[in-house]
Order: sequence, then structure tokens, then C-alpha cells
Amino acid sequence: MSEGVRVMAEAATIERASERSGPELTAVLTQIVGPAGVSEDLDRRRLHSQDIWSVANETVDLVVSPTSVEELSKVVSAASAAGYAIAPRGGGMSYTSAYIPTRARTLSLDLSQMNRVLEVNADDMTVTVEAGCTWAALDAALAPKGLRTPFWGPMSGLTSTIGGGLSQLNAMFGAGHYGTSSESVIALTVVLADGSVLKTGARGEGGDKPFYRHYGPDLAGLFCGDAGVFAIKAQITFRLMRRPAHEDYVSFAFATGAQLLTAMAEFARAGIASEMCAFDPGLTKVRMKRASLAADVKTLGAVIAKEKSFGKGLISAAKIAMGGRTFIEEEEYSVHVISEGRSKTGVAEDLETARAIAKANGGREIENTIAKVIRANPFPPLNSILGPEGERWAPVHGIVSLSQAPALFAEIEALFARMAPTFEAHGVYIGYLFTSLSTNALIIEPVFYWPEARQALISATVEPQHLSRLPVLADNPAATAVVAEARRGVIDICTRMGCGHFQIGRSYDYLATRDEASRGLIQTLKSTLDPTGALNPGGLGLNPTAAPAS
Ligand SMILES: Cc1cc2nc3c(=O)[nH]c(=O)nc-3n(C[C@H](O)[C@H](O)[C@H](O)COP(=O)(O)OP(=O)(O)OC[C@H]3O[C@@H](n4cnc5c(N)ncnc54)[C@H](O)[C@@H]3O)c2cc1C
Repeated sequence: MSEGVRVMAEAATIERASERSGPELTAVLTQIVGPAGVSEDLDRRRLHSQDIWSVANETVDLVVSPTSVEELSKVVSAASAAGYAIAPRGGGMSYTSAYIPTRARTLSLDLSQMNRVLEVNADDMTVTVEAGCTWAALDAALAPKGLRTPFWGPMSGLTSTIGGGLSQLNAMFGAGHYGTSSESVIALTVVLADGSVLKTGARGEGGDKPFYRHYGPDLAGLFCGDAGVFAIKAQITFRLMRRPAHEDYVSFAFATGAQLLTAMAEFARAGIASEMCAFDPGLTKVRMKRASLAADVKTLGAVIAKEKSFGKGLISAAKIAMGGRTFIEEEEYSVHVISEGRSKTGVAEDLETARAIAKANGGREIENTIAKVIRANPFPPLNSILGPEGERWAPVHGIVSLSQAPALFAEIEALFARMAPTFEAHGVYIGYLFTSLSTNALIIEPVFYWPEARQALISATVEPQHLSRLPVLADNPAATAVVAEARRGVIDICTRMGCGHFQIGRSYDYLATRDEASRGLIQTLKSTLDPTGALNPGGLGLNPTAAPAS
């Protein structure tokens, strides 16, 4: 059969899938991606029907793993035509019920096999990747060339993907200078619900050399933070920068959260941190309870490897080993600032500015161990999704303006104070993570720990050796309900205070909180891009179906 006839025959087969039910769709999809790309295995389907927070009431019918844009386009077209809901999934490292099935006849679209770094173009300073590429893999590909993306990953980047990160938006590495993940994007190639392929940006002759984002309305922006409800990301082009030649670290402790947040806001305004993260006393206690840093040979090895000379590395590692984590007092808030730049003097000046800001806000300088360890091993195994005694873990967060951060924190603290007896009765405890976004926002992220059995996805994510050291806990729906109530309470406060959110999924009140004109536009866009509502029904608050998960 000639290539043209074969393509036509394939298209006809896909077309006919509209009248077909499950088994026939499986056959069609197998034709497209091959037998290895379609899974009906129940364990795998169950794994794809839960996230780090929730287990769906439904189980996906199939897990399909395309390996190219062409396959992806055909799979989406066939599944939509057959009336299936489509749940795109990257690394599965989210916790807002974002990709789990909410109705029968859902297909899990596994992007993890589209994981190539397609082109590093050092002349044009662009890099193009497939959506299932992890942040860790991208950074590993760029490091030997002395290049980096400006935003270069979340802490989950060992497993979480660039497609997932752009669908949810991300905080962390590089965000202090360059903002969230989408702010480093030049162009996207996305697949719409009918299988058509849409490419954004100025793309050069032939259309496959994207080099500039803005040409007319920002179509790339439309698909960033969309919770995977507008289209499937297939390829992403980022801009590149040379890796900063110098970096250094400084850490401070504060007596109160308000002092910490005031200092962090001023660090952000001053633009001195490529990234910063901070912990409250609750999270510090959790970190202390975990295996001591001193015993973590891998971490020390990474610190030694990162220093420019072995001798300097050994000194750093010895300091960490001897200091352990005892340099932060139990009741203190600590912030860890990482500065980077082209000149050593510039970085040193940034740290001096940080010192002056911290001092003016009642901070005292402490060992910079945590910042150093974070940079030495930016993408660690995701063992922190379980507490030190095997407890479950789930964050919730709000993005807040610099001036309003202390007020948001005070409101959340007041909620938790009211709920304290309930927390205590159910063994729920809390920590906070704080970080910044460019010069204009802070993130406040309460993190819950509670005694509850872990679902399969968690066991599959944590390193086996780490998992084997942790107790297996019994089912505890009552404690989980308390955490759900507290997460809801935080979201309600954030909604009242007009906060923003990443990871909207099906957890944050996006559509309902938009003004009328925005709501209309968003709904019109959805019905144009995905007329049958096949992509992640319920995401962003669009096309809600039954309650997503228990
Ligand atoms: C231990 C841990 C640490 C974390 N640290 C951070 C952090 O530092 N910063 C941070 O921002 N987040 C962090 N997260 C949260 C989470 O990992 C991120 O939100 C991450 O971006 C999720 O990516 P993923 O590939 O796992 O996406 P998934 O969970 O697979 O999917 C997320 C959403 O994106 C959609 N989606 C996925 N791929 C595509 C695609 N190709 N096209 C269209 N839609 C798609 C899904 O349908 C879903 O709605 C952390 C999570 C864990 C467990």
C-alpha cells in the first residue's frame, strides 16, 4: 500500500471509530501507537486514576502512550470521535484531582513517552522539547553546553514534566528572577480535541524554527495554566540563557511569620534572589524528624561535586555533616536565598543587600546549608510525599501580592487555630512553605500531614528503600475529611482575598471567580477548542461532571 493510501485508510478507520465502543477503539489506537502504546492492565489503569491527593471514583478504560505529534493527533482525534473523555497526564505529580477520570469512558493520555529534547539551538538561544520531557532531563541536556532555561523547574522535576508544568504553572528554580514556567516559553505546538495541530509564535521559514513568542495576541499564553482543558501540549520551545557563572547562598531565621514575609517581600522587590524558599517551625520540625542530613551520603556527595575545588567541597560537606540541622531554633522561621549572576562581585553585593534587609526586619544569619543542599541536588527523589512516620502529605497554596502576604498568613493561621482541636483529635499537623515569584508575588503554601493509608501512586513514587523504612498506616477517612475541610478553608480565604493559584485542576475556584465577560470568553474558547468537552471535564470549573474523587 502506498503511503498516501495507507494514511487515507487509517483516517477512514479512525473516522469510523465514532460509532465504536471500547474494544474497537482499542484496536484503532493499537493501530496508531502499536501494542506497547495501549494498556488495559488494571493496575496501570488504577494508577492513572489517582493523583497524590485523591483516588477517582471511576477508573480509566485505557492508558495510551503516543510517541510523536502525529500519533498524539491521531489518538486524540480517534478518542474524541468515539465519545471518550481524555485525561492528559505527564508525571502524575499533582494533587488537585487534575487528570483523574470524572466519568465513565475516559482515556488516560500518557505523555511520558514523548520525552525527547528535540533541538538545542545555541545560535538562536532556543530549546525545543516534547511535552513529556522532565525538567531534570532538560536541565541535564543543557548543562554540558553551559545553557539553561530561565525558569528551570519545580522541585518535583525529577518526575514531573514540562507539559504538566505549563498546564499547571510552576514555582521554584529561577522563579525569583524569571517568574513562573510559562514566562520562559517562546512557542507551543498543541493538539486540539479534534486532533488538529496548532502552532504558536513567530516560527521562521517553514514554521519549525520558533524563535519569538509575541506576534499578535499571545496564543501560547492561552494554553499555559489551562489545566489541560483547552488542548494537549505536544512540543514546547523555551528561550535559553547562558548558565550564570556565579552563585552563592545565605540563610536567615526570624521569630515570626510576619517578619519573614516582610523580609521576603523586600528580597523580591530588590530582585536579589534567583529563588528563595522558607519554612515555618512546623515544616522545620518535619525536616528535623527525617533522617539526618549528615547521614545522607548522596546529598553530601552532591555538595562536594558542586564546589569548584574538591577541598572547598569537603569543607562545605563537613560543615553540613557537623552542623546537621540544629542551627535553626525549633520555633523559628527560616528563609534560604540563592543568588546567581555573571559576576562574583554582583552576587556578593546581592547577598549583602539580603543581609541588610534581613537585619532591618529582625532576622539573624544562620548556616546556609539548606540553600546549598537545594542547589547541589535540585531534583531529589520525591520521598517527601510521605511524612516522617509514613503520614500522607498534601499542600494547598495561595499566590499573594507582596503587601498582602502577612494578612493572608494571619487569616490562614486564624483558621488553623480554630481547627486546632480537630487537627489534634485526628493527628493532623501542618507546616508551611513560602517562596517568591519575580519581583511581584509571594506564595504561601500550607502543607498537611495526617495518618492515612497511602495509595498505589505514592508507593510507586517513593524510592523503595525509603518506603521500606516507613510504617504502613491504616485507612483513616475521618482524618482525610478534616484535611479536605482545611484545604477548602484555605481556598475560601484565598478566594476572598483575590489570590492567584497554580495547579488549578479541579480544586481551585477559577471559572466561578472570574468577571462575567471573562467567564463568557473562557466558555466560548472552550466550546470552540473542545466542543464536546472531552479534555479533562471539570478542569478550571468548565463542563463539570460528577464529584471527581473520594
Ligand atoms: C514532592 C513534590 C514537590 C513539588 N514541588 C513543586 C515545586 O517546587 N513547584 C511547583 O510548582 N510544583 C511542585 N509540585 C507540584 C507538581 O509536581 C507540579 O505541579 C508539576 O508541574 C506537575 O507536573 P506533572 O508532569 O506531574 O503533571 P501531571 O500531574 O501529570 O498533570 C498536571 C495537569 O497538567 C495536565 N497535563 C499534563 N501534561 C499535559 C500535556 N502535555 N498537555 C496538556 N495537559 C497536560 C494534566 O491533565 C493535569 O491537569 C511538587 C509536587 C511534589 C509531589
